Amino acid sequence: MLIGGELVEAASGRRFDNVNPATEEVLGEVADADAQDMRRAIEAARNAFDNSDWSTNGELRKRCLLQLHEAIASEREELRAELVAEVGCPLSTTYGAQLDIPTGEHMLWFADVIDTFAWERELPLGTAFGSRSWRSVTKEPVGVVGAIVPWNFPIEVTLSKILPALAMGNALILKPAPDTPWNATRLGRLVAENTDVPAGIFNVVPSSDHAVGEELVIDRRVDMISFTGSTATGRRIMERAAPGIKRLFLELGGKSAHVVLDDADFASVIPMAAAGACYHGGQVCALNSRLLVPRDRYEEAVELAALGMRAVPYGDPNDMNMIQGPQISSKQRDRVLGYIEQGVKEGARLVVGGGRPADHPKGWYVEPTLFADVTPSMTIAQEEIFGPVLTVIPFEDDADAVRIANATEYGLAGAVTSASQERARAVARGIRTGTISINGGMFYGPDAPFGGYKASGVGRMNGLEGLGEYLETKMLAGPSPET
Ligand code: NAD
Repeated sequence: MLIGGELVEAASGRRFDNVNPATEEVLGEVADADAQDMRRAIEAARNAFDNSDWSTNGELRKRCLLQLHEAIASEREELRAELVAEVGCPLSTTYGAQLDIPTGEHMLWFADVIDTFAWERELPLGTAFGSRSWRSVTKEPVGVVGAIVPWNFPIEVTLSKILPALAMGNALILKPAPDTPWNATRLGRLVAENTDVPAGIFNVVPSSDHAVGEELVIDRRVDMISFTGSTATGRRIMERAAPGIKRLFLELGGKSAHVVLDDADFASVIPMAAAGACYHGGQVCALNSRLLVPRDRYEEAVELAALGMRAVPYGDPNDMNMIQGPQISSKQRDRVLGYIEQGVKEGARLVVGGGRPADHPKGWYVEPTLFADVTPSMTIAQEEIFGPVLTVIPFEDDADAVRIANATEYGLAGAVTSASQERARAVARGIRTGTISINGGMFYGPDAPFGGYKASGVGRMNGLEGLGEYLETKMLAGPSPET
């Protein structure tokens, strides 16, 4: 791990295994931090933030982000192989959101914004309580940020926290998910060996124990938690952060809906939409795991979805042709199978898949799975399964589609397809989620805010809104010479 600028083992000397989810083989080990190691990292970050010029030296920060960009590029292929091995993500995903996009030009946006950001804003002279004052709104970093990340897109999520937090002048402690620690420890090493980031400004603390992450939440020396993970853990973090009134940025789960309106070209949209639900084993927060189709074309839609599902290439994540690899762990695999069982029990019709593939005895695979005759209140239509499982739900008209799309506790993403952009936009306006794709439009980018309504989170990553998560606002005023 990286604590206070030093690459170190856990003080206890303990390590834990990193396991390949596609083969169930141990890849190797990583330092296993305990609460004391975490407290040392917090101390280092606090000290570095309070006693270095990092928060005010934009030139240094920009240089460091550019150095990190180059350092990552120099080990990109090792990182690619490592991600496929520890995440089980199909190799093809690493050429997109899993690796190449977040480590490419995306990073430069965060380096450049340091120069262009409106750090100060002058307000007109103000008169209050009989005195005239100049007034200035200034932006300052929040301070020490605890970044807690999941395993599904570890580099992408990690960089989506590190880049804005460091660009805006914060110190950071990164706590990776226990299932995918190596990409984070590699980043730690790259920062230590290849950048001028002052000791203690960036720390990496992996642990097999979730409770070690909670140290960040309860320790008053940490000003903010930037968390991405499940809604259940987000709730727990909110509770534990309450006594310290800690600032929270939470990116949580989703149960997004793809609404296909009756004027859409079903044959070109639905098979792809169904296959898309299996992308990376369905372990994608913004995945459209509900397909909403008009009732009078329901059977046609189910047949097309089945066609798409049966064609999903899944298996060895090293094979460039795959879009689905294994689930991350046997626990996650069993959780997904439990949801499938529940769907059958509640009366949904299993059309495709539903079990463990016989031809993959090793690795934590689940078959691409399609459910029809799903009602909006069923468990499989309400809860985030995080597996390759699609539910097809009928609606009566556009208003009913909006009502069903909104009928879960989540509000992360979604999609609308229609021959009429105008009609699609009207439906999209009714859906209470942070992002919606219309007719296949792509929302993702460093300048595009992403995040959730309702139980999908609080706050946004990326864009100016995302930078704002890592900033405090200070209002300055003084007597005006013009009285
Ligand atoms: P998780 O909530 O189980 O774990 C996420 C991280 O939180 C891990 O690092 C874990 O060690 C840590 N953690 C667990 N308990 C903690 C506690 N009490 N205090 C502090 N830290 C704790 O989530 P996961 O299974 O790793 O990831 C899958 C979830 O992440 C899904 O729900 C998915 O939708 C969500 N996700 C959301 C987004 C988004 O942008 N909204 C992106 C990716 C993943």
